[in-house]
Amino acid sequence: MENILEIKDLHFQYGEIVALHGISLSIGEGEIVTLLGGNGAGKTTTLTAISGLYKGITAGEIYFMGEKINGTAPHKIAGMGIAHCFEGRRIFSQLSVKENLMMGAYLRSAKSKEVADDLEYVFDLFPRLKEREKQAGGTLSGGEQQMLALGRALMQKPKLLMLDEPSLGLAPIIVEGIFAAIKKINESGLPILLVEQNVNAALEVANRGYVLETGSIVGSDTAENLLKDDLIRKSYMGME
Ligand code: ATP
Repeated sequence: MENILEIKDLHFQYGEIVALHGISLSIGEGEIVTLLGGNGAGKTTTLTAISGLYKGITAGEIYFMGEKINGTAPHKIAGMGIAHCFEGRRIFSQLSVKENLMMGAYLRSAKSKEVADDLEYVFDLFPRLKEREKQAGGTLSGGEQQMLALGRALMQKPKLLMLDEPSLGLAPIIVEGIFAAIKKINESGLPILLVEQNVNAALEVANRGYVLETGSIVGSDTAENLLKDDLIRKSYMGME
């Protein structure tokens, strides 16, 4: 089985600051893979390196569906099928819910019927967005904005979805709904790379996980084993 994403010995620097010291990871077809680690471990850096948003790769390779993508322009990477949901959502606050969603389809040369079908899929997944179709994005609640960010990424019709801290700042009940949606999205076959501080929630939905510490991968296992791991429970779930 070919991996959807394969990162080999990736080094990344912001100027003089080394953020990734040679990390390797892979995502197989249909998998949810989570990247765990404390503040400043390099999780967001890994996602931005993949989507090409920051230039800082000094060594190593990133392959997407067998094709090397490091050095490729970010809009081309997005066009190839990698959707990146940013930390803090970054929706267009003045645009309506529907306009925000349509921005996701902007790079596609899809027929309007396909786009309309995808919009329906997003509205089925998040009926709340349908109800608020004409409302300005900036007036939505945090949870609704997260749904919108997810929906906009899905309108790209991606082949890989990358999520950066989808639970950030949301109440537990809302987080539950977001994770249920993530699971449902994945059940349609879409592989997901998930960065999440809520380690428990991430491991509940993920197939596998990698543990990142100060720019190096210090462990990787099935989500089931990571959930039972004493060190993970102590370091990232605050359990003794
Ligand atoms: P968090 O959950 O706190 O966002 P993270 O694991 O996502 O943490 P990164 O944001 O990837 O961590 O940061 C990794 C390292 O790179 C940190 O030491 C950080 O200070 C540094 N860094 C991140 N962004 C920049 C930047 N734009 N310029 C310089 N250094 C940066």
